[in-house]
Amino acid sequence: MSQNLTNNLLVWYQKNGRELPWRTKGGAHFDSYAVWISEIMLQQTTVATVLTYFDKWMKRFPTIQALAKADLQDVLLTWQGMGYYTRARKIHECAKVLVEKYDGKIPKNRDELLKLPGIGPYSASSICCFAFNMPETVVDGNVMRVIARLYGITKEITAKDIYPLAEKLTSHKHGADYASAIMDLGATTCTPTSPKCAMCPWKSACVAYKKNIQESIPKIKKLEKKNVMGQVYLWQNDKGEYLIRQRTEKGLLHGLWEFPWHEGSLLKGKHPTITHVFTHFKLTLQIVQKKPPFDVKNGVWVKPKDFAKYPFSTLMKKVIKKI
Ligand code: SF4
Repeated sequence: MSQNLTNNLLVWYQKNGRELPWRTKGGAHFDSYAVWISEIMLQQTTVATVLTYFDKWMKRFPTIQALAKADLQDVLLTWQGMGYYTRARKIHECAKVLVEKYDGKIPKNRDELLKLPGIGPYSASSICCFAFNMPETVVDGNVMRVIARLYGITKEITAKDIYPLAEKLTSHKHGADYASAIMDLGATTCTPTSPKCAMCPWKSACVAYKKNIQESIPKIKKLEKKNVMGQVYLWQNDKGEYLIRQRTEKGLLHGLWEFPWHEGSLLKGKHPTITHVFTHFKLTLQIVQKKPPFDVKNGVWVKPKDFAKYPFSTLMKKVIKKI
């Protein structure tokens, strides 16, 4: 049965699959660099948003060599707006390693890929699949939904629960097309709400469809997010400039610019607030218009009209909007 399902999906894909600049129907994409960049961009960003950034990125850094030579500030500015900047820093670091140790080429080997900065198990599998047509199983949110519905899984699931079922359906000959196909089925047909089951190549085998329980599946286990509070300080001098600083410590926002802020319990009185959700926590900052009650290292005074010259995190862009 799984062979039939795989073949039906591959046929469906040839006619209905999406055209995306980092894919080639019928096999591996010709540019493994483009596959790598798109995969990292797509980790926490929607396809629609990535489409606009991807084009800009490839024009700015057309090759691994060009990226390796670029200034980090430039890389962060080109990434600006997509959030999760660690991805951009790791891409830059990885490009340098590729030039130094891999002759500027992306290795065609999962274990080698896993040694590179910013490439985890999911990205390594995706690159093997889309750039080299290997029969890797990739499980993202779309794949989880399609598989959970196909097998009528009503309990709470994680990607690990879905992996063995997804693996059985993976095509050994057409790794790239198959992975694209199941993702596209999830993105365009087996959508979270109102799935278009009448158009689905897996309709006759789908348990959720037979039981009419599609929309109640999947139930994805969610991580509890911690709530973090604090204050961000907008300190202005007589020239109308604001004090901003660059983050130097390693971590999520390394290298980006920000208004000085710190964690702490909420202050009394009325203050405008901004909130931002990171992968593992939710941050709420009160905006306070005064000198910060701590020393500001690496600070510079900048006029609001010059903010665009500095890569700010998405969190800080929310503060700028409030100014
Ligand atoms: S039949 Fe409907 S619910 Fe089942 S896989 Fe296809 S689109 Fe999804």
